[in-house]
Amino acid sequence: METGDYFESYEDIGIHKLMLEDAPRNKAYRESIHDNKELFKDKVVLDVGAGTGFLSVLCAQAGAKTVYAVEASNVYTIAEELAAENNFSSVIKVVNGRVEDIELPEKVDIIVSEWMGFYLLHEGMLNSVIEARDRFLKPDGLLFPESATLYSAPCSIPSLYGYWQDVQGVSMNCLASKLREQASKKPVTEIVASDDLLSDAEVVVWLDLREVTCDDIKSIEMRHVAVANKEGRYQGICLWFTCTFPSVQTEPVTLSTEPEELPTHWKQTVIVLPTDVPVELGTPIAYDLSLKQSPENCRRYIIEVTMLDPEEVEHPEYCLCHMTKC
Ligand code: SAH
Repeated sequence: METGDYFESYEDIGIHKLMLEDAPRNKAYRESIHDNKELFKDKVVLDVGAGTGFLSVLCAQAGAKTVYAVEASNVYTIAEELAAENNFSSVIKVVNGRVEDIELPEKVDIIVSEWMGFYLLHEGMLNSVIEARDRFLKPDGLLFPESATLYSAPCSIPSLYGYWQDVQGVSMNCLASKLREQASKKPVTEIVASDDLLSDAEVVVWLDLREVTCDDIKSIEMRHVAVANKEGRYQGICLWFTCTFPSVQTEPVTLSTEPEELPTHWKQTVIVLPTDVPVELGTPIAYDLSLKQSPENCRRYIIEVTMLDPEEVEHPEYCLCHMTKC
């Protein structure tokens, strides 16, 4: 299922600028590719969703023999210019089209892709990487990144609650409640401070990209039964992800969007709860979380949070349902 708007949105170079200014993102790809030059030397690489061609150039610099830079949107012309600017026109072959529709003259040794969206799965681009893997990757081929993990933890959201109590001496709680009402209708992209997480995180899903199937990511469900590790106000569920890259000798590189790390353009995703529950150190917290790909449009997920009474997890207190927009 496709929406024309999706690729059109990537024709805005402002979006590419935002990604290319994300230092933790760029560094993770550069280090994982350049620290493992022996994996790239004389190899054939497929860059799924090459955009401006940044990752393709990193692979060419690492010694790849050929890089197929596949890009569906019109930004592919920049990838061609970037290859020329970096003297890799003979290595980087830019292919304009959806990776699902194109043909390649050979199988590839490595797939590189930056497919992650907000809360990892937003945009549904992983489906395209899976299809590219099944069509083009050699059986012992590598994926950069090769695994991804989505986490969740209960959190407080001072930007939506605390700030408005005193804005230069003006109490603005009435505006705050409107903002919260709006925010609880769809997931919010926010920077969450690690201090605002109220318990240890729980893994929502771990994906081995060498094996994951499109079916595996249609519906993901988890239950988190936790204990507050500090006093605070329980106001939302925070989601973030990490990705890990293959490595030969060095420690594998991890790209992390967790609150404790430097902020990335993904920030964190927060499901804002309609209530504000005070918790103390040791207070039990429980919720069910589900992410379901919309049957109409696989780029959207329906996120559902069911608050549970920690003493009686079988009896939901209430349920929140979000349809994410793409
Ligand atoms: N690799 C670039 C851009 C990442 S953004 C970088 O790291 O800077 C993702 C890009 O993938 C967008 O440009 C989008 O148009 C492209 N894309 C998404 N799905 C695709 C598909 N199925 N086939 C080809 N390109 C795709």
